[in-house]
Amino acid sequence: MKDTAAIMGIQFPKRTLEESVDLLRQVVEEPRSELFHVVTVNPEITMACQKNSELRSIVEEAGMITADGIGIVMVSRIKGDHLPERVTGYDMLLQLLAAGNEKGWSFYFLGADPVTNPKACEVIRSTYPNLKICGNQHGFFKPEDEERIITEISSARPDFLIVALGAPYAERWIHQYKDKLQAKIAIGVGGSLDVIAGKVKQTPEVWKRWNVEWLYRLIQQPHRWRRQLILPQFAIRAILYREGRK
Ligand code: UDP
Repeated sequence: MKDTAAIMGIQFPKRTLEESVDLLRQVVEEPRSELFHVVTVNPEITMACQKNSELRSIVEEAGMITADGIGIVMVSRIKGDHLPERVTGYDMLLQLLAAGNEKGWSFYFLGADPVTNPKACEVIRSTYPNLKICGNQHGFFKPEDEERIITEISSARPDFLIVALGAPYAERWIHQYKDKLQAKIAIGVGGSLDVIAGKVKQTPEVWKRWNVEWLYRLIQQPHRWRRQLILPQFAIRAILYREGRK
């Protein structure tokens, strides 16, 4: 059996959430000279990669990609090439924070608005007191602040650089500066800090279990409807896509 499933030309590894986190546990314990970029690929990114070769190479060059969203998993099943489950940035982040609390790993949190970022850090600090927060910075900085932020991250040398700038801004930002950041692992986590800080409600388990997290998010954040229009388009195109050609 192949260990990846192709969707619109992107090779998704058939890894569960637990296996993905286990891989990151190994990576962070190894000595590394290069940043290990984790990209959680959702239907929007998959579609954007069809037109945008720069984004496509960011995804292809990543150390690890994960299937972010039930849309990707369902399409893989319809195509007969089963991905085991969705592996979102938020779910990985929670597991990494718990593991980091045991291991004493260091985290730098970049992104979310100026109120939410420190609030999320406060929640993380009190829930996971043994992990180290080696820095934090909200995500609405000016271009002229970028150099200072990169210097701050590289001097902190975090085990994990958590980037909550939204996709694909986070992926581009990590890729652009990956040689300067001196972080072991960097991962874009979308709106995860909003959820941790309580700005956005966490999706209850039952909605996740029934694979309707997208509907819950739509009800909570109705302004997302435009973005979600891409889901049916993605499903049709991805099912009809003949894998094996670029
Ligand atoms: N964000 C940010 N800087 C920006 C734009 C967005 O820090 O210039 C943050 C925003 O506050 C939110 C996150 O990025 O916390 C995006 O969340 P969303 O749920 O939209 O993530 P996506 O699904 O787009 O990855």
